[in-house]
Amino acid sequence: MSEGKLIVITGPSGVGKGTLLKKLLEKYPDRIFFSISATTRSPRAGEENGREYLFWSRAEFEQKRDAGEFLEFAEYAGNLYGTPISAISQAIELGRIVLLEIELEGARQVAVSFPSAKRIFISPPSMEVLESRLRDRSTDSDEQIVKRLHHAQLEVAAADEFDITIVNDDLEVAFHQLEQAVIY
Ligand code: ADP
Ligand code: 5GP
Repeated sequence: MSEGKLIVITGPSGVGKGTLLKKLLEKYPDRIFFSISATTRSPRAGEENGREYLFWSRAEFEQKRDAGEFLEFAEYAGNLYGTPISAISQAIELGRIVLLEIELEGARQVAVSFPSAKRIFISPPSMEVLESRLRDRSTDSDEQIVKRLHHAQLEVAAADEFDITIVNDDLEVAFHQLEQAVIY
């Protein structure tokens, strides 16, 4: 897995990772390969199996994890999330830029297994803004929002571990910085 580029994008839930990555994929559909993760969480309204995630049962996830089929995996807010190896190794060999959008524990695992991966942290302008983005998105229960804000504290505190930090305040500014970091 040495031909293409592996890029890890991490940041608290609600910071705008999905919004930024969607714009990037729309602009560079042929250069970027977005790794579709597997998760045991239930699909949100509008999410489709195989598009946002591979929605697997816990038993199916654990069986594949035990068979060594994940590049990395982690438990987050009560659910398992992981990067299946198969699709991404092929994309890297084809020279594509492979993007992984994963949480902190997974990013740490990739730092060990692929030290050459570029790791980008997306930070909120403040915790207050993060909370209002999570609430305004209206996709998560209060209980999930509390768990996500708790993780957010840990994640923001670890931002120094990353190669680059981008603050997603103004979307266009953040997008430009992300584009510079990923494409150039
Ligand atoms: P994540 O994928 O990191 O969980 P999302 O991309 O779903 O976050 O964004 C969370 C919410 O914040 C969405 O409603 C999105 O429209 C909004 N959002 C994203 N970026 C910005 C921004 N720069 N300014 C204001 N709102 C934003
Ligand atoms: P959400 O439930 O909001 O889609 O994602 C919750 C968290 O899981 C986010 O921080 C997201 O980046 C992370 N995540 C998504 N896919 C993966 C994955 O494959 N591995 C890991 N470690 N985290 C993931």
